[in-house]
Amino acid sequence: MNRNLPPALVLRYPHPILDEVIPVNVVPVPQELLDRLFCTMYHYRGLGLAANQIGEKRRVFVMRVPNGIERVFINPRVTARSDDTKVETEGCLSLPGQFYPVDRHLTMDLTCNNQGKLYTISLEGLEARVAQHEMDHLNGIILSRGNDVRLL
Ligand SMILES: [Zn+2]
Repeated sequence: MNRNLPPALVLRYPHPILDEVIPVNVVPVPQELLDRLFCTMYHYRGLGLAANQIGEKRRVFVMRVPNGIERVFINPRVTARSDDTKVETEGCLSLPGQFYPVDRHLTMDLTCNNQGKLYTISLEGLEARVAQHEMDHLNGIILSRGNDVRLL
């Protein structure tokens, strides 16, 4: 684990890689990619970062949680989610300076597949929101789509 790497370039919308649906790939995820994701996320003070945001076509994202624990999501699938949703304003490192209201499920379970080993992460509140935002990235969805641009 290395948390002293220089930040990677974060792709900005519109970049074609940000529009792609990234396929599941169960070959090992290099630790160096996870390190770069975390270092880049911390550098830009993001709450989460998807691999395709730094040009890596891997179905992987990372998140930080309030108590400082780092979470890694490899080939995540949504396996449960609440019916209840809430609209809150979100920003995105790929859309600097822009903020949009987005409706998200309040809780969510993601089942991840790391080389055939399954693990499930249950999330709520801000973590559930961030994970849904990052899942959208892996599915080629930027939060502006379908919303009116609103600059705060
Ligand atoms: Zn984003």
